[in-house]
Amino acid sequence: MLYTVEGLVISRRDIGESSCFLDVLTDELGLLEVSARGVKKVSAKNHAAYSIFSYCTFCVNKTKNNYTLNSVEPKYLFHGLSNDICAFSLANYFCDVMKYCASSEEQQPNLLRLMLISLYRLEGYASHGEEYTILNKLKSVFELRLMAQIGFMPELRVCGFCGRGLDENLRFYPILGLVGCNDCNVKNNNDSIGISSSVFKAMRHIVYSDIEKIFSFSLNKENFIKLQNVCEMYLLNQVGRSFKTLDYYKNMYYKGMRND
Ligand SMILES: [Zn+2]
Repeated sequence: MLYTVEGLVISRRDIGESSCFLDVLTDELGLLEVSARGVKKVSAKNHAAYSIFSYCTFCVNKTKNNYTLNSVEPKYLFHGLSNDICAFSLANYFCDVMKYCASSEEQQPNLLRLMLISLYRLEGYASHGEEYTILNKLKSVFELRLMAQIGFMPELRVCGFCGRGLDENLRFYPILGLVGCNDCNVKNNNDSIGISSSVFKAMRHIVYSDIEKIFSFSLNKENFIKLQNVCEMYLLNQVGRSFKTLDYYKNMYYKGMRND
């Protein structure tokens, strides 16, 4: 049976001289493993599918539980990502996390959208050079929003312990996925991070706003660093593992860090 789906190649494993398996993130069918024959050759008809970050319309043939690439129509290839090693390594981390978190063969609404808008922003940075700190903003937004979209929505409406409203002296609990109020924090201050009301508002924005607006907020430098810690700790705690691509990105980031 033939299916036509839009998707983004997020990883690839070579098989022999000329073929490979592609992991393709789609809205309709989640993460698909597609076998692609003969695509490695530059002259091959479906060569566009061979690149990671290729956003294409894929025509795939399904037999039992296997998908085979029939044809591919490129839509956007994110070539600009390779202009900047930090942007490129962060994009690789996004793919790595997504591959681990996205389910196969079930609808994953908006995961592809999240991935695409994050890569567009990263490519914009790589091509035009924005403030260096934008990279960590993109990273934080991606991490927290992804968790919310795949069923690890943190409780950010009320105190996760007592259910009362939240105002000041807040702490985030990355293992529990909630924010505690001043009274409850006195009793439960283990494994938590103090957050300012600006960081709290930014977290709420990332989790609850329309996906097209997730990057539309600003924070001062100190709060950005806090947000960065919170989002990364939350993701790593919830998925319960680390990622080599994250270590690599951080290494690249701190090597290249300027004073902006
Ligand atoms: Zn409370």
